[in-house]
Amino acid sequence: MRLRFHHVLGRGAYGEVVLAEDTVTCQRYAVKVIRKRALLAEVELADVMVEHRVLQLTSGSRFLVHAEFAFQTKMHVLLGLEYLSCGDLDQLLQSKGPLDVNSARFYAAEMVCGIQHLHTMGIIHRDLKPENILVAETGHVKITDFGLALENMYGDRTANDYAGTEGYVAPEMDAREEYNAAVDWFSFGVIINQMITGERKYHHKLFNESTSGAKSIILQLLKRNPAKRLGVNRDIRKHRFFQQIDWISVESLRVPPPHILESSKPEHLEPFHLDAVEAAEAKDFRPSPKDQAMFRGFSFSNLKTLLDTSSKTTGASSPTEPP
Ligand code: ADP
Repeated sequence: MRLRFHHVLGRGAYGEVVLAEDTVTCQRYAVKVIRKRALLAEVELADVMVEHRVLQLTSGSRFLVHAEFAFQTKMHVLLGLEYLSCGDLDQLLQSKGPLDVNSARFYAAEMVCGIQHLHTMGIIHRDLKPENILVAETGHVKITDFGLALENMYGDRTANDYAGTEGYVAPEMDAREEYNAAVDWFSFGVIINQMITGERKYHHKLFNESTSGAKSIILQLLKRNPAKRLGVNRDIRKHRFFQQIDWISVESLRVPPPHILESSKPEHLEPFHLDAVEAAEAKDFRPSPKDQAMFRGFSFSNLKTLLDTSSKTTGASSPTEPP
């Protein structure tokens, strides 16, 4: 297979995320390498399968991370995501401190495009926060991490199970009430507030300006009553905060990003060998045919030949798909 693994980029809930490269096109990917063993408890598998399905739908928006391919070996499932090399919005805020209103407006506008796209597909993200907004080397941003997403949330459908990250969770979810896509707009309000003030919690003292519309959009997104919250109630693109925004230019990535960052590299480069992790896992786990059947249908590829197993440039185990 023509995928070469480089180093570990980070660790997720179920395994490593590894930088990999297509040796023919030199295209790089962030590959989530997930241990099947970690997924055999059904709840975890359900989360990963949601993420897997959503990551195939998100290729329709430039503001959402999508998967190019997925395949499996005996011990692992692997999800090939587009690689964004400049870290996330949380790291950006840590290195730059609170942003000026124009920079925050740029990131907010790109996020609006991503959030609205998700919602038109009936998907609620439920875990919007700066760590889940990745920054590309072009300076544009994309929403990622669909592990807590809810699908088929069309029309008046609501949900009531709690999911998300403290500080970003909407009050109706916190109160275990029925909720809808308005929960994402609340989290988005927290993010805008955090970009501008450096704080998650809204404090009116931190806003001395009234002309930019920042204070107004944050307050309308943080409304406790979800039916009155901006995003579900009224067109957010028409809010005063976005008055100067040309949405066609935003959608086509023609608005110049305010910051171009250097690619972030882990301090310590940890090499990754699929064969080695496969063998290590095989030492104390033997998946049964019934276990393997749970992963049926996992593999797909948006690429024509990436999973061509005829040329073994990596020496990695060949991908398999149980019958
Ligand atoms: P999980 O959702 O399982 O917790 P994450 O999506 O948070 O896993 O990924 C863990 C780490 O891997 C992230 O913090 C980030 O450093 C890196 N990472 C994940 N996806 C990408 C990507 N598309 N491009 C670059 N790095 C990524």
